[in-house]
Amino acid sequence: MGKGQKRMNQLLAPILAALLFISMFTPSTFARAEELVEKKPVVTVIATGGTIGSLGTSRVSYLSYGQSRIAVEDMVKYISPEVSQYADVKTIQFGNKGSGSYTIDEFRELSLLIDETLKTSDGVVVTTGTDTMEEFAYWFDLTVQNQKPVVLTGAMRPWGNANGDVTIGGDGPINLLNAIKLAASQNTYCYGTVLMLNDEIHAAREVTKTNTYRTDTFQSGEYGILGYIDGDNINVERAPARVKACNTEAWATPFDLAEVKDKELPRVEIAYTYQMAGGEVIEAFANAGVKGIVTAGTGAGGTSSLQSTARKAAAEKGIVFASTSRVGSGEVYGGSGNIIAAGDLLAQKARLLLLLGLTFSDDTQQIRTWFETIGNRNFTTK
Ligand code: ASP
Repeated sequence: MGKGQKRMNQLLAPILAALLFISMFTPSTFARAEELVEKKPVVTVIATGGTIGSLGTSRVSYLSYGQSRIAVEDMVKYISPEVSQYADVKTIQFGNKGSGSYTIDEFRELSLLIDETLKTSDGVVVTTGTDTMEEFAYWFDLTVQNQKPVVLTGAMRPWGNANGDVTIGGDGPINLLNAIKLAASQNTYCYGTVLMLNDEIHAAREVTKTNTYRTDTFQSGEYGILGYIDGDNINVERAPARVKACNTEAWATPFDLAEVKDKELPRVEIAYTYQMAGGEVIEAFANAGVKGIVTAGTGAGGTSSLQSTARKAAAEKGIVFASTSRVGSGEVYGGSGNIIAAGDLLAQKARLLLLLGLTFSDDTQQIRTWFETIGNRNFTTK
């Protein structure tokens, strides 16, 4: 019996006991109690597109595909009936396009849809393109208010071709099956959003895409994977720190998008640092009206002297900066005034936290605190 099933049974045990007692008087309730324990979890797959939803021209179209796309319903049909031993699966086709073409407004819509769906489902799987999957994941991690499992998956190889053939060595079907299995198991309850690809489970905050084509592209650097799946064995070895706040108010972040449904979300951009990087990119962003800029600096967050001058001028105008490193691991410390050190967050993730920070507060000090708490791998909201 998996940990998730055990947890479910623990939760249901008192209900079962009570219903057993009542069943002495009403035999039909006994059947209901059994049904509760036996009940299969409901998992909803929300599909957005990406390579997993793409078709090529042959069974070996590894590099060129996307001429046509497959609907999520058909993907689930392909992994049926096997998938039905884990969950009752429902599907929502939110979109069917590359991950890079999703807007922040659509990100907001998706978070709201996930929370809505989790009112009636035991878990949600979201399929996205892998290119910006880590950004979808961290956004959901920061904004979804429900503690139930949210699992992202995708594929590095197209699903198949338009004749209905599946790609030779395609990773789409197994990734989808494993993601549903994981969401149904409840093993990642209170973990926030996780990624499930290549048999491995990753935390949204830590995972990043590291290779353009390999199926083991997703890595969590020095933190490592949360666990892995071998057949029906779901092995979860560690948990994100927020799991400690499970079932308390401190679990959810203050970034409840239901409160800002109609608000225009601020623009936040990223400026990359390299030898002699000019300051024009920062100046142009500032002139375009962005509210925040993340620098992907050298080493421990350094910027070129021209960038530093441009940053100082923009910060004086009220633009808030988050300082990260292009190195890919390790901390960035310090920061003062309108410059916030983003710790070990990658630039693309610091951008999302800064964007949410600027959505929910005008106070840089508050946003700095959110970077130190919610943005920190030790995760606290109080
Ligand atoms: N181009 C794809 C995307 O939508 C890549 C992928 O899914 O692997 O991100």
